[in-house]
Formats: sequence, structure tokens, C-alpha cells
Amino acid sequence: MTLAVFPAPIAGELLYGVLARHGFLAGSPNAAEHATELFGRRSAVATFDLPSGLDALASNLPALSGLDGAGLLRHTLFPFYAAFQDEEARSAAEFDMRASDASSAHHRLGVAAFRIRAGVALRFCPECVVAQRATHGFATWMVAHQLPGFPVCPEHGCWLRDSMVTRSSAGRHGYVAPDERNCPVDGASSLDVEVPDLLLDLARAANAITTGAMPARPLSHWRDHYVTRLAGVALMRSARKVDQSGLNESLAAYWAPVFPHLPAACAFFGERGWAAAMVRSHRKAMHPLLHLLMDGFLSHLERGGTVVAGSEFVSVGGMSLPHSTSAVNPRTGRTPRADWPALDAALAREVEREATIVGALIPPVRATPAEIERRVRRSGWFGKRRSKRPLATTALAAIEEPLDAFRRRRAAHWAATLGPGCRPWQVMRPAGLRSDQLPMIREVMAQAAASAAR
Ligand SMILES: [Zn+2]
Repeated sequence: MTLAVFPAPIAGELLYGVLARHGFLAGSPNAAEHATELFGRRSAVATFDLPSGLDALASNLPALSGLDGAGLLRHTLFPFYAAFQDEEARSAAEFDMRASDASSAHHRLGVAAFRIRAGVALRFCPECVVAQRATHGFATWMVAHQLPGFPVCPEHGCWLRDSMVTRSSAGRHGYVAPDERNCPVDGASSLDVEVPDLLLDLARAANAITTGAMPARPLSHWRDHYVTRLAGVALMRSARKVDQSGLNESLAAYWAPVFPHLPAACAFFGERGWAAAMVRSHRKAMHPLLHLLMDGFLSHLERGGTVVAGSEFVSVGGMSLPHSTSAVNPRTGRTPRADWPALDAALAREVEREATIVGALIPPVRATPAEIERRVRRSGWFGKRRSKRPLATTALAAIEEPLDAFRRRRAAHWAATLGPGCRPWQVMRPAGLRSDQLPMIREVMAQAAASAAR
């Protein structure tokens, strides 16, 4: 059935935002009915980044909208994740997102395997929200604000903020538009730090690849591409051999000021680090952020910029970490120590991010320090380095979800999944609970029924 109305997307708008606006315009009574209107299926999942069923959606749009599956794709994170991928991965992911109901685009584009992950909440720029309301009369979600690892608005150069809209708060099928309640702008004093120019450069570079203009290249292209550019800036030992330590050191020194604001994975160098992998033969795709870190650094050198690099790396947990300030002290001849506070802050942010991710997993997973530690690094990693990681250690210790709360969360999830009319004993098994917890399950189900009735 063709939709009676469909809002024209604005440039750079996230499809999720367009669909939220449609829900408002069409006055859909609830999420399931809205999903059916859009995709012809009640069960269509509302996905922020790489949604599927786009051809089905396009076929329901009014002819005047002029949008087909490929046009809708441009309002997702597909162009961003596909930018450095080969043709095969791109077309497999595109096919999945357009023709399939349950997409495996996250796997096809390597997103599921990246250490740099998306947060659970949709993000917004407070200045964009004001500007959108003035220009268009509504606020909406933008693709450029949802790029994992990029914390700054490319247009206004201000810090992006997490909204309160997550997959679990919006519901599996729900499209929620930004408003004053779910996009609070006060009480964010930690964001008073000025945005470094380097981060704004990165955000703009990332925004540029979201237009989908990058031609597909085989993975082998990227090694040759970077090696050619490294030769141009004298970072080769010989015609074929990269000056790996020189590259690691100067790359780390160039980006060091912004490492506290980037995912911790960006600051791992050494033999097994990302920069070494990038100049070897690519066997798998690498995150766009890492490509843009390499590209931004090389462009800086190609413009005649300089980087003063130190001579040593410290080995931490089997990986090498860069010094923050890199010059050797001419008086003492000593190289500066690693910037533990900055690394600690980056790690603490990663701990918090992983905790949010674990908290939103479906079916529910209990958030414990051990689980987070396993996801951030490997078990026992924090133990030996506690004194150097006060922020990360505190963040980790704060995570423990009480067992009772976790059981209630599981019970609520399975009761909702099994739907109205299910019995407490049916909830018990999938929720991994025992019969002595039946009274708790009954109570959780009664609460859910009462709040649904309100
Ligand atoms: Zn903005």
C-alpha cells in the first residue's frame, strides 16, 4: 500500500530520522502499525545505522518522493562503512540492506568485528537542532552525528552529545524524533573543553565520505596507496620496506593531543598495531576512522607540515603505546614518559561505552567488571596496572549490576518477547531462572501489565 505522505529527507539526514518524522506526520497509532505501513511487516526492526528492507520501503513511497532503494541507502551509515571496502563487500551489503528483511550488512562490512564501536544512543549537535528548527521547523537525526569514533559536529565544530534515544528506549520497532526531553542540552559541563582543530578536521573528513562518492577499490589498493605516499614523505627504509617505527612514532605524535577523545584502539601502535596492519597486505577491511587518521597524518606531511617524534615506545599489555609529548629533553637526554593520564581517560571512556553496550544487549547480559574487562582488553589486564589507571579502574568497579536487578531485567525481557498471555513458568527457562524465582517473575509481569495499561 502506498503511503499517503512521506517527508522529503534533508541533506545528510539519517533515514531513522526521516521515518520518525513520517510517523508524526502520518499519526501512526503505535510502533507495530507504523512498521507495517512502512515495510509491510510488523516485525521490521528500527535500525539506526544499517537498516534493511529498503526496497520494500521504497516501493511503498509515493511516486513523487523520487526515492528508490539506492536513494534511501544514502541516508544510512552504508556510505561511511563502505568507503574503504571492495566492490564485493559493498554489493553484498547493499543487496542485504535493500532486498533482505534481516540484514547481515554489519557482518559484510566488518562492522561487527571492529574494535571501534557505535555507542548505544543516537547523538545530536545542540547547534544543529537549533538551526534545523529555525530553517525547517523540525529537528531530526543526522548521519554525520552517528559516525562511531567521531565526537564532533562537522558543521559547527562543537561536541556531539548522547541523546536518551537508544534501541531499548525507542523499542525494537519504534522511530523517535529528537525533542527537548530526549536531547537535553544542560548539565554537560564536562563538554566545556574546547574542541581541538584536529578533531574538527577528522569530523569533516568523515562527513565527506558519507556522501558515497568514494569509488570501490580492492583491499590490496590501500597498501600500495599508503606506501606510495609514505615514500613521498620519506617514511620508507627502502623501496619496499616501510620505516615502521618512524611511521608509528610520528603518527602517534601527530594525533596524541586528541587520543583522549578517540576510541582507545586508535592509540595502539607497535608491531601488532593498526598502522602496521595498514601498510601490510590488507586481508580484512579496517575501520574508516583508522584510514582517516592515516590520511590526515600523511596529508599534513604532504603539505610540508612537520611532526617531532620521540624515539621510544612503551610496551603495555603486549602493545606499544605512544608517548604523548615526543621530543627528547635536550638537557637530560631522556625521552618523556607515556601520558598515563590521557591513556587512562581514554580507557575509562571505553569502559563506560562498553558498559552501555552490554546494558543494551538483547537478550540481556549482566554487566560485571569481568565482562567489561573481557570486552575492552582481556581478563586480568587491569589488575597489574591499577595504580596507573585510576579513572578506568574506578569506572570498571562502578559497573557491577546487582544479580537481582539482572534477573528482573531478564524476566522482563522474556516476558515481553513471549508476549501477552505467556505464563511465568514459560518465562523461567529462557530467562535462565529457577522455580524459586517464580514469585519474582510473576511480580515483574504484573508490573509490566500495569504499566502497559496506563
Ligand atoms: Zn552541528
